[in-house]
Amino acid sequence: MADTWKVCSVCRKSIAFGQLYYACNVSTCNRKRTALYFCSMECWDAHLPEARHREAWAEEKTAPAS
Ligand SMILES: [Zn+2]
Ligand SMILES: [Zn+2]
Repeated sequence: MADTWKVCSVCRKSIAFGQLYYACNVSTCNRKRTALYFCSMECWDAHLPEARHREAWAEEKTAPAS
């Protein structure tokens, strides 16, 4: 898809430019090279058991405009 900005780190669905997405607040999940992107709260929830964060929340973000 031409307007794909990133793909969801969990379900691999595309996140389009300008679309709302979720990011993990934990710094290790936001390193430039390995940053994680989630298309929905459900996908962020799926990330939690694997990541074993002690305290974490999802940050609502907007993908940059194309
Ligand atoms: Zn997803
Ligand atoms: Zn995380």
